[in-house]
Amino acid sequence: MAEPQGEAERDTLRIYGMSFDFPVSQKLEFDPKFTREDGSVAVKSPTKSVVFVTWGELGRIAKKLPTPRDHSKYSMERAAKSARGRLNHVEQRDVQINGHPAAYSRAEIAIPRGLLGPQRPNQEIVSVHFHCDRTSRYFVIYTSSDWGGPGAEGRDDVFRVVTETFRCH
Ligand SMILES: [Zn+2]
Repeated sequence: MAEPQGEAERDTLRIYGMSFDFPVSQKLEFDPKFTREDGSVAVKSPTKSVVFVTWGELGRIAKKLPTPRDHSKYSMERAAKSARGRLNHVEQRDVQINGHPAAYSRAEIAIPRGLLGPQRPNQEIVSVHFHCDRTSRYFVIYTSSDWGGPGAEGRDDVFRVVTETFRCH
């Protein structure tokens, strides 16, 4: 069961003018209705962690969320709201993806304990948001501790490989 040492063997997905690498141990699941303009791909690991790659039309959000940072903030707040929790820590960094300014965030959402339920661990969401003016699409790549638990083996590696190799145009 030991993982091979060093860099895991990789495969490349190339579709609709975008591409990224992922470790061969991962299984891809496509949103069946996805199109060039709008869709998502789940990169699933045997440890149940998932890295999502999603995209959509830039024109639909450009007014409301003009920068990747605005977009990232909006997504984190929406995730906290849908988890009925609150954002209690956000680490942000400006990075670049395929030459585009990108907003990296690692956010922690505190989930309130239910009336009778046990204390629930904070949810951690790691994401990058960026906007591709060349193809008029926005991209969000994210993963959450909800899938596979906070320490899911390999999740950070898969996220890193996908984001480092991502090409949107
Ligand atoms: Zn691009």
